[in-house]
Order: sequence, then C-alpha cells, then structure tokens
Amino acid sequence: MSAPQTVDVCVIGAGLAGLRAAQQLCEAGLRVCVLEARDRVGGRTEGGVLCGQAVDVGGQWLGKTQTRALGLCDELGLSTYAQYSQGQRLIEVGGKLRRYRGTIPRMSLFALLDADRALRRINRAAAQIDPAAPWAAAEAARWDRMTIDQWLQQTLYTQSARSLIDIVVRAVLTCDAHEASLLQFFSYVAAAGGKVETLAETLDDGAQHLKIAGGAFQLAQRLAARLPAGVLQLGAPVHAVEASEAGVQIVHARGQVQADRLVVALAPALAAGIAFASPLPAARIQLHSRLPMGSVIKALIAYPRPFWKARGLSGEVASDQGALGPVMDATPPGSEHGFLVGFFDGHHSRALAGMPLEHRRDAAIRALQRYFGDAAAQPIGYVDKDWISDPWSQGCYVGIAAPGTLTTCGPALRAPCGRIHWAGTETATRWAGYLEGALESAERVVAEIIAARV
Ligand SMILES: Cc1cc2nc3c(=O)[nH]c(=O)nc-3n(C[C@H](O)[C@H](O)[C@H](O)COP(=O)(O)OP(=O)(O)OC[C@H]3O[C@@H](n4cnc5c(N)ncnc54)[C@H](O)[C@@H]3O)c2cc1C
Repeated sequence: MSAPQTVDVCVIGAGLAGLRAAQQLCEAGLRVCVLEARDRVGGRTEGGVLCGQAVDVGGQWLGKTQTRALGLCDELGLSTYAQYSQGQRLIEVGGKLRRYRGTIPRMSLFALLDADRALRRINRAAAQIDPAAPWAAAEAARWDRMTIDQWLQQTLYTQSARSLIDIVVRAVLTCDAHEASLLQFFSYVAAAGGKVETLAETLDDGAQHLKIAGGAFQLAQRLAARLPAGVLQLGAPVHAVEASEAGVQIVHARGQVQADRLVVALAPALAAGIAFASPLPAARIQLHSRLPMGSVIKALIAYPRPFWKARGLSGEVASDQGALGPVMDATPPGSEHGFLVGFFDGHHSRALAGMPLEHRRDAAIRALQRYFGDAAAQPIGYVDKDWISDPWSQGCYVGIAAPGTLTTCGPALRAPCGRIHWAGTETATRWAGYLEGALESAERVVAEIIAARV
C-alpha cells in the first residue's frame, strides 16, 4: 500500500458544507484534501436535464434572509430570480379542490381559525427556543417527549386544519407528523427566523422565494472549480477513521490520509457508515443512528405550454390526498415549455422509492391530473431523483429527530471530538436543513480549526 497523503485538514464530503470549509481552509494557507464518495460534487444539490434545460433535482430555493447563500451566489457570479407566484393557488383538503389567492386557503371559517391558532402556538413556542441549543429551552423535555402528531391531536379541533398542518409538516420536514419530535419542529421554525409560514411560503420572506439562474447545483460545481488542483478526490468513500493525540488517520477506497484535523461534513446518519476506531462520546455515537434521514423524491414534469398560467393559476398546489405535493411552477426563464416541480414526501415517497422511473412518473401524472384535469395528462418530459435509494444520502432533506433525540444527543451535534470537527447542515444554528445551514456549518468548523492551531 502506498504511503498516506499528509495534509493539515482532511474534509469528508463534497457537499456545500465540505466544499465551503475546504475553500476557506485553503485560503487560510492550510494543506487540505476533500474526500467525496460520489463521482460528483454537491451532495444534496444535484443537476438534472429536462427538455434540454438544466434543472435542480435537489436543493434549490433561497430565502431573502439566507445571507450566506445569497453572498455565495454573488461571489460565484450567480444571479437569482423570484419563484413564479402570480395567479391563484390550488388546495385540496378533505376531497375538495379549491382555488384561492394570497396566503389564506379557502376553508370553513372554523377550520381556518383552528389552523391559525395552531400556527400561532407553533410560532410562540419557537420564540422560546434558542436554535443553537433547543434542548435548553424551558419546555424542551415536554416537547421532546411527544411527536408532532401527538401535539396536533391535542391542539386541533377540525380535520381540515389537521390536514393543512400535516401538509406543512410533510413539505418542510419530509416526514409524517408521527415520525418527528415536536421539539425538532419548533426548533426548525426557530432556526428559520421564528415563523412557520416562512418555511412554507414562496412569497417575499418565504424560504421558496428565490431561485438561482441556471440551477443551485452550480454552487458546488463553482466552489469545487476554485479549489487548488489535487485537493478534491471523487469516488473516495471514507471507510474508517482513527484519531489520536498526534493526528487523524483516514482510510478511504483509494488510499489513506494522515491529517492534523478532520472535518466530517455529512449528515449524522451518513457518518454512521464510517468506522471510528478511536472511541467517540456516547451521545455522538448515538446521534449517528438517532437522526435518520427524511423521505423525499423530487420530480419535474414538462408540458408543451404552461397551461396553468393561461387559467389564472400560479401552478402551486397543496393536497392531503394526491401523492405529489407541494407542486410549484418550475418553468425556466424564457422557455416556451411549461415545467412543474413536485415532491413525493413522507409516506408517499417511501411507497415509490426503488420503483422503476415509469412507476413514479405515472404516479406524478395521476396526481397532476387530479389537480389540473386532462391538461396534465400528456407531459413531454419527466425527470426525478429518488433520494431515499441513493446510498450517499439515504433520504433527504435532513436528519429527522424522533422524540428523545435532541434532549439526549443534541449537545453532541457540534461539539468537536478532539481533532474531529462536525459540519453539515444538521449542525447549523440558523436555517438548519437548508443550503444556508450547510454554509454556516462550514464557517464554524473553519473558525474552530483556525482557533485550535493558534
Ligand atoms: C430534494 C431536495 C430539495 C431540497 N430543497 C432545498 C431548498 O429548496 N433550499 C435549501 O436551502 N435546501 C434544500 N434542500 C436541502 C439542501 O440541499 C441541504 O441542506 C444541503 O445541500 C446539505 O449540504 P451538506 O453539505 O450539509 O450535506 P450533503 O450535501 O449531504 O453533503 C455530504 C456529502 O458527503 C458525501 N458522503 C457521504 N458519506 C460519505 C463517506 N463515507 N465518504 C465520503 N463522502 C461521503 C455525500 O456524497 C455528499 O456529497 C433540499 C434537499 C433535497 C434533497
């Protein structure tokens, strides 16, 4: 076996977190290597092609308060534009499909008041949480003892309001309400600025307001292109790590690296695939098996024309019945065709994961026909990404904490273990789960490493 490569810092993972950390460490004059399992960079961001146009089959939207991500776009020469949201939206709840304008769906007054009361309670709870330490909130123990579902059962009076909040939970966390801890949900809202509406919206301050011209997948590609030659190794899954007081030894599919410090820029569930020969603290070990990934398949469907616009619709759909949802317009600027993007999330995605593409395409078309009628029956193109079946993601968008996880293992999320530092969007204090969170985590580990070397 050849001699190990020797560097100051080894970074595992060439997602946004790992690449941003590597770029900044290189700029600080350190010798860096990045080991990436896949044969591409970008991790949970990825490009696809639909009718000859580049599209995002992974992470895509930015919000106005995501200043790191917007700053990175500027730095890399990428521009943004607003998500198309003109016209009416569709909502299907309790078997009724309705059109509405603005942010308040058409439902019975009682159901609306019921949902509004629950949303206000979510925001009030989020205001009590420091997203850097949700486990320290006064009510943390109570909130972490129950699922979102249990809380909704206690809180809501109407089935329609229940369906509406279920749609929000699935869209935001890509899991069903019975899968996640209430504390994680409140903490997610707190990390996004404190309003659950922000997480679900395409308008103004919503997390889905802006798109990157040409695709968000370019962020990672352009960051990687700026790394000095030889820093990035693709097709190099890391199998084992052994840390000592002298340094860290990393074994990957193509060789070995000897580093002064290690950055693990992966979701905790993916870190579980690495054998840590030197013992980690119990909470850290358990974190790797107690934050399984959410469940999502992202699909894009092309039509000859954006027929929904001609009918006064924005293309936005939320449904408690259809398998595909939320759905939004995804027509690239200047395209003659019309594109829609939709998500199979939670149980809908698990039912389709691993199935042949035609199966998923048929399910998407069936759902779109349900919302838009026969006009949706004849698409001219389809592309999707089954994130559950990808071994290097095992699901998306983010690790899901079942009850009891954050209050027991949460403090281990960011705490360095000797020479091992932990990055990745799951470790962020603002916009955890998002591109913004991945970038925040990169800045933090770089600061940790530079401070440790002084
Ligand atoms: C369908 C979808 C839609 C999304 N939509 C949005 C959105 O609109 N806006 C938004 O802000 N965010 C969105 N996200 C989330 C966003 O993409 C992620 O938060 C972000 O990309 C995470 O970056 P990361 O660097 O933390 O992790 P990752 O991107 O997961 O990077 C980790 C890297 O580590 C690699 N790896 C794993 N194991 C090993 C190993 N053993 N050895 C070496 N390498 C390994 C992986 O291949 C990967 O490249 C979405 C995600 C998905 C999937």
